Amino acid sequence: MPGGVNSPVRAFGGVGGAPFFTQRAKGSRLWDVDGNEYIDYVCSWGPMILGHAHPKVVRAVQEAARDGTSFGTPNPREIRLAQLVCESFPSIQKVRFVNSGTEATMSAIRVARGFTKRDKIVKFEGCYHGHADSLLVKAGSGAMTFDAPDSTGVPADFARNTLTLPLNDFVALDRVPWKEIACAIIEPIPANMGLIPLKSGFLEKLREFTRKNGALLVFDEVISGFRVARGGAQELYGIQSDLTTLGKIIGGGLPVGAFGGRADIMDLLAPSGPVYQAGTLSGNPLAMAAGIATLEELFGVGMERRRAAALRPTPLTRAVCSPNDAARPSVAPYRRLEQLTASLCDELKKILPGRHARVGSLFCTFFTDREVIDYATAKTSDTKRYAKFFHAMLERGVYFAPSQFEVGFMSLAHTEADIEQTLKAAKEAVKTQ
Ligand code: PMP
Repeated sequence: MPGGVNSPVRAFGGVGGAPFFTQRAKGSRLWDVDGNEYIDYVCSWGPMILGHAHPKVVRAVQEAARDGTSFGTPNPREIRLAQLVCESFPSIQKVRFVNSGTEATMSAIRVARGFTKRDKIVKFEGCYHGHADSLLVKAGSGAMTFDAPDSTGVPADFARNTLTLPLNDFVALDRVPWKEIACAIIEPIPANMGLIPLKSGFLEKLREFTRKNGALLVFDEVISGFRVARGGAQELYGIQSDLTTLGKIIGGGLPVGAFGGRADIMDLLAPSGPVYQAGTLSGNPLAMAAGIATLEELFGVGMERRRAAALRPTPLTRAVCSPNDAARPSVAPYRRLEQLTASLCDELKKILPGRHARVGSLFCTFFTDREVIDYATAKTSDTKRYAKFFHAMLERGVYFAPSQFEVGFMSLAHTEADIEQTLKAAKEAVKTQ
């Protein structure tokens, strides 16, 4: 395997050293093949919002497997997951399942181009939308770590149709030839160059420019979907996109992506329309089962236990949880995640010098004194210091992302005791800086 891995950031290129190999995972913990135990704040890069090997998810996958691992025909589990997605995202009238976030964004761009009959797209520097050719231009994530945001092997002609703009730059939005643009794609909570919340009004302006000029707005909610609220960033910020891409949580740890949106756009897809898109394993019954179990557990059955945990009268929970949450089951898990993550980040801020960002259960510390508002300012981070901190934490049994330019993820399986242990490790780790 090139670089010893099947996805670049796993190789620890951003922090040096050799990665550990995971033997098994449960709840908030990973165990490597040498028997070391880690509190995991990577959570498989986002999907494991319930924690690892959640019994309901495991059981759902086992039951599905007994019925057959792939049919290549429609199956009822696709319908159930589609219902859960459409009920959660009012902007998604129709949805199609694929096998990864990359496939979702690639296909969303294709249908946007088919709908508008325009070729050019707008993306934002440092936003990562998977590794499809036209989206690997000034991308974040592993591409940023390796300082080669423009991958070789991407034809210059493809990149020419991708206009990249700095994030949070209102003036740049003004200069775009919007009438030539098929769509603008953005992570509404940019989380692939560290975490950079957008300035207030930026998404609104983007919505206004696209709508006025017949361009589509695509929210890439592969990370934020079901993570920051049941209806993703669009629920949190009250702005709807024309198309949305999803992944990670909707597959419960199995390979799933999805794209969806306005019915008049989605109906252009084959077999209803002329935009081709297909997949041998799309809507795979095991993957659908894991996604359904994850979302149902998040919002339905099992709420009693989590609600009880969220409402346990510690000083923290008293501040953020109200008994009214009992009547709003889709809010309670997010309150709990928010409370846990805030309790970690509020203390980390006191321990670690740098710039701290948090949105819901996503968090990040930039090792820089500069205010981080875009790709350029994120790059001012001292990656060597981050690497030292990362390794000092790993030695103490805490696994943060192996790159300055990724985010931390909290799960519902994390506990106050995990956070205490993490903070104790952080206090020791900074002394090694
Ligand atoms: N979009 C976003 C916002 C992502 O964070 C990612 C992956 N981290 C992708 C798309 C691509 O998803 P995948 O790795 O499943 O192809």
